[in-house]
Amino acid sequence: MPRIIPMSSRPSAQWLVGWFYERMFSLLHQSEWEVVWKQKYIFGKGRVKRPLCGLVEFEDRCMYLSPSLKIHPDNETLLLTVIHECAHVLFGEVSANEKGFVPHASIFELEALANHFTHQQKKDLLALLPFHPSCLLRKK
Ligand SMILES: [Zn+2]
Repeated sequence: MPRIIPMSSRPSAQWLVGWFYERMFSLLHQSEWEVVWKQKYIFGKGRVKRPLCGLVEFEDRCMYLSPSLKIHPDNETLLLTVIHECAHVLFGEVSANEKGFVPHASIFELEALANHFTHQQKKDLLALLPFHPSCLLRKK
């Protein structure tokens, strides 16, 4: 199929924002992946405990998010982490040597999608997270 230059005057990335929103929504909505609030995580064999923003465990199909108000003082910062972790799930595991389908640097860039979601879309995504008391303390 040849690539034909579209007739519309200006290409838009809005479809990509919509595509990502729909994927994030169904990922957080369905039960194949569990979202768990976790303050600290033990890394590697050295059993180093480090504060965590978020983490995806592919084997357990589990997404960990920090409930800490220091790490996520407001819903905007929490949403950046949720986008980041959802991108890991949607684009596959990124190995430490960046050999994944989408490198980690690109996953960080995808966080900018938060600027393109509507207020309602942001609210809807965060409403899908399990309840945690610190959610009540974040600015609405
Ligand atoms: Zn990451």
